[in-house]
Amino acid sequence: MVKYVYAFEEGNKEMKTLLGGKGANLAEMTRIGLPVPLGFTVTTEACNKYYEDSKEMRQEIIDEIFINLQELEHKTQKYFGDIKNPLLVSVRSGAVFSMPGMMDTILNLGLNDESVEGLAKVTGNERFAYDSYRRFIQMFSDVVLDISKYKFDHILEVEKGKSNLEFDTELTLDSLINIIKQYKELVKKETRKSFPQDPKEQLLMAIEAVFDSWNNPRATIYRQLNDIPSHLGTAVNVQSMVFGNMGHTSGTGVAFTRNPATGEKKLFGEFLMNAQGEDVVAGIRTPQTIEHLKDVMPEVYEQFNNLAELLEKHYKDMQDIEFTIERGSLYLLQTRNGKRTAAAAINTAVEMVQEGIINKETAIMRIEPMQLDQLLHPTFDEKSLKQAGKITQGLPASPGAATGRIYFNAEDVVKASKENEKAILVRLETSPEDIEGMVAAQGILTARGGMTSHAAVVARGMGKCCVAGCGELRVNEKNKTFKVNDKVFKEGEYISLDGNTGNVYEGRISTSEPALSGNFAELMKWADEIRSLKVRTNADTPGDAEVAVKFGAEGIGLCRTEHMFFDEERIQVVRQMIVSKNIEERMIALNKLLPFQMQDFVGLFKAMGDRPVTIRLLDPPLHEFLPHSDDDIKILAEQINAEYQGLKEVVEELKEFNPMLGHRGCRLAITYPEIYEMQVKAIIKAAIEVKNQTNIAVKPEIMVPLVGHEKELQVIRKLIIDTATIVMEESKTEIEYLVGTMIEVPRAALTANQIAKHAEFFSFGTNDLTQMTFAFSRDDSGKFIGEYRRKEIFEKDPFERIDQAGVGKLMEIAVDLGKQTRANLKLGICGEHGGEPDSIYFCHKLGLDYVSCSPYRVPIARLAAARAAVINKDQSK
Ligand code: PEP
Ligand code: MG
Repeated sequence: MVKYVYAFEEGNKEMKTLLGGKGANLAEMTRIGLPVPLGFTVTTEACNKYYEDSKEMRQEIIDEIFINLQELEHKTQKYFGDIKNPLLVSVRSGAVFSMPGMMDTILNLGLNDESVEGLAKVTGNERFAYDSYRRFIQMFSDVVLDISKYKFDHILEVEKGKSNLEFDTELTLDSLINIIKQYKELVKKETRKSFPQDPKEQLLMAIEAVFDSWNNPRATIYRQLNDIPSHLGTAVNVQSMVFGNMGHTSGTGVAFTRNPATGEKKLFGEFLMNAQGEDVVAGIRTPQTIEHLKDVMPEVYEQFNNLAELLEKHYKDMQDIEFTIERGSLYLLQTRNGKRTAAAAINTAVEMVQEGIINKETAIMRIEPMQLDQLLHPTFDEKSLKQAGKITQGLPASPGAATGRIYFNAEDVVKASKENEKAILVRLETSPEDIEGMVAAQGILTARGGMTSHAAVVARGMGKCCVAGCGELRVNEKNKTFKVNDKVFKEGEYISLDGNTGNVYEGRISTSEPALSGNFAELMKWADEIRSLKVRTNADTPGDAEVAVKFGAEGIGLCRTEHMFFDEERIQVVRQMIVSKNIEERMIALNKLLPFQMQDFVGLFKAMGDRPVTIRLLDPPLHEFLPHSDDDIKILAEQINAEYQGLKEVVEELKEFNPMLGHRGCRLAITYPEIYEMQVKAIIKAAIEVKNQTNIAVKPEIMVPLVGHEKELQVIRKLIIDTATIVMEESKTEIEYLVGTMIEVPRAALTANQIAKHAEFFSFGTNDLTQMTFAFSRDDSGKFIGEYRRKEIFEKDPFERIDQAGVGKLMEIAVDLGKQTRANLKLGICGEHGGEPDSIYFCHKLGLDYVSCSPYRVPIARLAAARAAVINKDQSK
């Protein structure tokens, strides 16, 4: 029989899939004897069954829940609904991968009109009991009954207003009783039913609501952003309550064992005395830093510090711990591996290796390659930062630099970013509803909330710059303005945020390039020792190539020569070449282009030294270089001294219904061999020049695009070799070069044994290969792939991550067949996938020699390649 509910004593930390992260860790902490309030976990399997059964909870699951409830009553000697000593529980979601703030939590469940009296009696504190009941009705109504929170807030504010109160804690018992009465009336009005009084009914409704929240919009978006599969489901943890709001010897807090923004090895966190659960994270009252607990309750601080150390050692990773102090006793409510910025992840991992806690392989596995992106983007330029006008300072909640126009709600930020505007989201405080705006924003600025507020936690997870708790900011979300020190900033005005210092500046600040140094460099060194896959870059200019080399690129895997054609000086000549009526005219234009191309290659070769450089011969359809509107054609006709009508006809003639499947790639060279001839001449001449000037043994790899039939390559290979030979003979200099092809047409993959006869290397052009395998236009698929993802037809856009079952299968076939013909065939990938970690893992398994990606992706690819080697080693054990 399937077991759907586990008491905390029955689980352990290895059971994450079934119990969720939170449940497994509560079980583990219970197992090793830490002070954890008793409880049980309803499994992710129960959640999946609930969805399978069209959102109905099976009787067998209900029965198990109640059996466990009974045991919990027995163990705590408290009983649901008891008027003397009632059992109260929290009901919280807990997915396999932590999704902070994305799903729902209910506290104080079990309270009703009678048990509230019991709570008052047993605690001797009526005010506390009624305050708990008030909070419970509000939370339950929001999460389970779907009644907007603000309606309750309104009642509360009116009641506070009556007595001119600032804080909730100042409410008198009478006011609380009055508020509860109004809350219940509101529930009745909104749901046409009374607020449920039976705690068992409350419990089942709450569990179902947590299951439902697995599919709420913010959880769905979070999963998509973080590649968390939707079939995992969430577990639900039911835990007996401890109270942080029982007066001045009670409190609640959150702390990390190391600083999650920098990695510094020092307890980092916040707490609030006389407060409950979400008060710290919600950012409504500003909490105190954890060191302060030393002054307030020194023994509890000492105990917490020791437990935090123990937990970090036990899990061998930085922990994020939630705790509650109830009348002087400390309880741990959660521990999990702390979410951290890339900088903190690197510093923590490298230092833990140095401290002997983990090994280098584990350190490599601790950093998600895509996280490095945060460190590979420009920071504020020192000089321009010095001149910038600082307007205020908040907490450095998530590092990075952001400049943009201010917007005051998520919707406006999303709109602005769709119009390619850089936007900064400014809020009093963020809530899970803001998630889309946070994704679209360059940075986030909040007036309230601490380092563990929603804005801070979520921004760090996203690697987005965030300045939180900026107390001087007077935000008026309605009027879309904020005021700071008497200066008013309106929607659309520019500000800049420094997430490393918490500084906020007016206007725009220019940025400077990042560098790989310190622990980052150390980690990269380890990655290089571990990986076997080489990492090259896709670069078309010496500038790009230099950046890539700085980031550790070991060669160029793709230089798209057409990008060089668009330069202002040359586009005229390129156009002249295209509209030539005969080969003589075309040769005149090509001869003008030759020196330009040669200089491009000289620059690239010098930047790359003796690293291999793959140069792809011209690929796009020629019409891409021509103007299309009548006016532009007229201008061109004047510029190149051609007759307008004739030129227009040429443009018309070159137009294609399906240019992506048209006259492009090697097909151009079948019809106009002189174009490739010119390019090959330029490559070899450039290699000779660099060799003569610098003595660098340049290694060009000449690559032919869009080959589908071996004879295409056979013809073009001959052209390349003949041309190169002539150039080398003329200059009496030998250059070592390779001739190879892209594999980007399915037919090429399927006939790779034939193609390999004429190719010394293959480079997978997975952009086109994906396009042609799916028959999805690369340029138009964006319009519908979003829907494919929402409907879960695709887990990920196949243009981002290699579709292993289809495109990957073709790659596998090509590798096998290619190697059958030529055992030493060199293999690489230069489609966008070459910088995507999962695809890199796939390439590693396939036995490719290298991946090639854009310069800023190079460190990501180096780390991903190392992780691939570690995973593969672990799996083959
Ligand atoms: C490819 O198709 O994967 C490729 C690298 O070439 P391009 O993107 O230039 O078509
Ligand atoms: Mg291509």
